[in-house]
Amino acid sequence: PVRVRFAPSPTGNLHVGGARTALFNYLFARSKGGKFVLRIEDTDLERSTRESEEAVLRDLAWLGLDWDEGPGVGGDYGPYRQSERNAMYKQYAEKLLESGHVYRCFCSNEELEKMKEIAELKKLPPVYSGKWATAADGEVEEELAKGTPYTYRFRVPKEGSLKINDLIRGEVSWKLDTLGDFVIMRSNGQPVYNFCVTVDDATMAISHVIRAEEHLPNTLRQALIYKALGFPMPSFAHVSLILAPDRSKLSKRHGATSVGQYRDMGYLPQAMVNYLALLGWGDGTENEFFTIDQLVEKFSIGRVNKSGAVFDSTKLRWMNGQHLRAIPFEELSQLIGERWKSTGLLTESEGPFVEDAVQLLKDGIDLVTDSDTALSSLLSYPVHATLTSPEGRPIVEDKLSEVSAHLLAAYDSGELFGALEEGLAGWQKWVKGFGKTLKRKAVTLMAGEVIVHAPEGFINRKTPWP
Ligand code: GLU
Repeated sequence: PVRVRFAPSPTGNLHVGGARTALFNYLFARSKGGKFVLRIEDTDLERSTRESEEAVLRDLAWLGLDWDEGPGVGGDYGPYRQSERNAMYKQYAEKLLESGHVYRCFCSNEELEKMKEIAELKKLPPVYSGKWATAADGEVEEELAKGTPYTYRFRVPKEGSLKINDLIRGEVSWKLDTLGDFVIMRSNGQPVYNFCVTVDDATMAISHVIRAEEHLPNTLRQALIYKALGFPMPSFAHVSLILAPDRSKLSKRHGATSVGQYRDMGYLPQAMVNYLALLGWGDGTENEFFTIDQLVEKFSIGRVNKSGAVFDSTKLRWMNGQHLRAIPFEELSQLIGERWKSTGLLTESEGPFVEDAVQLLKDGIDLVTDSDTALSSLLSYPVHATLTSPEGRPIVEDKLSEVSAHLLAAYDSGELFGALEEGLAGWQKWVKGFGKTLKRKAVTLMAGEVIVHAPEGFINRKTPWP
């Protein structure tokens, strides 16, 4: 059975990169009828916080990526927080010690430093070459009796290589001679990250590990631990980085990078999900608009691109507009009306005026929050207009001032405002009359549009000629 997991470290907010990893796992699970597990990787006790965990859970839930097992919902493979699984790590560390895959290393930090310096001087890779890999039982007993602190070190084969078949990157192989024996448990009994991840993935029966590319190097250590524990290896899929437009790694200096920031800016979860899915994936057609159900239906891990995907906030904004307009009108009108009421722009959140205003504005906004400025502009002054042909070519460019003059006059006399107050029908009637005033050729006018520009240039709202 397919079992995948998303394993965030609760050390900050849910980043768009993390959200995309979660989404790919979710889509994979849902498309295969499998389970989507959420595991909290809070082994870094200093940096992990409960607030961060809560924020991550809230953001995932907001995106609609509901998990089948994990915090809040439980499941048969819990606990789902690493900090609550220490007994299990300890148990498997002991098992590896017994089988000889792990040995006790009594080297002090100074000794390890010295080893590194020597390796550097000899221009050798800085791998552990200490005596404890081959120490006699007697020596070990002696240190134990003295109470010398020790770590658990994993015995890495000194030659050969290891390869995996990554579902996105294809065959990836590593030579073992540069790895060196690595620590899986510190002298204070704290298990090391790669060891925890492996024990968790194995004991949670994870079938596919879909995660960020930056974890690819960890896979070597994890695969060795899998083998030593005798667990079947899962399939791996390492998703490429999300890049900024300058192709550097996306970071805070490029603007909003957390899911919560986008929510606060007025983005819709369905637009975020759609956009994140397209970062490195496509269904092979030109289609870019997908609901989450359509994504589940179309998603395939084999179509995930192995090169980095550029995060384009302009496109995300555009996509939000597409999803906004896909909301059934009544719902949209309610959503925007509630916003206007909560921001104090209107006293009522519903009614014919709200509906008419939403009808007039909806094509010109990408975000729900844009509707504030749009409404203010609609209710405020001075406006000017351009007539365009059906192809969007300005057809009265030379007469622009004439159009503006008429509009301005209509504004000054209160006629324009009156028309707006009468709602959509009134507005359309007025626009028709306006065409007559301008004495445009009927045929052009019928096919043309009036674009009303607000002073801030905000409402680029097109009103088709009735
Ligand atoms: N906790 C890791 C992270 O937040 C993920 C580890 C994994 O997926 O294997 O980057």
